[in-house]
Amino acid sequence: MSFEDRMATVDFRVAPDAHIVVDNEVCQGCPAKQCIHACPANLFVPTSDGGILFNYEQCFECGTCYMVCNNEGAITWAYPEGGHGVVFRRG
Ligand code: SF4
Ligand code: SF4
Repeated sequence: MSFEDRMATVDFRVAPDAHIVVDNEVCQGCPAKQCIHACPANLFVPTSDGGILFNYEQCFECGTCYMVCNNEGAITWAYPEGGHGVVFRRG
């Protein structure tokens, strides 16, 4: 199944508060920025000041960003509050 097909089976119930918070100051000192390529939803976007712009709304909650980031404190990760977040539908 292609990524686009997979995306067609996904809904997001966006919570009012971000379940992942990225500390841009830590990211500015991170040369590798593994998160940009690791996130399957492309939610980490490099900024002109050397930091990261992060959007939580279409997160799959896969945890990959948290696994690949080596900089302590850069990512604060939790599951969205009850009833929110990614929803996988039948095709
Ligand atoms: S989230 Fe982690 S891997 Fe990504 S730029 Fe920030 S410090 Fe680097
Ligand atoms: S949990 Fe997965 S989908 Fe969500 S921001 Fe991290 S890598 Fe991207």
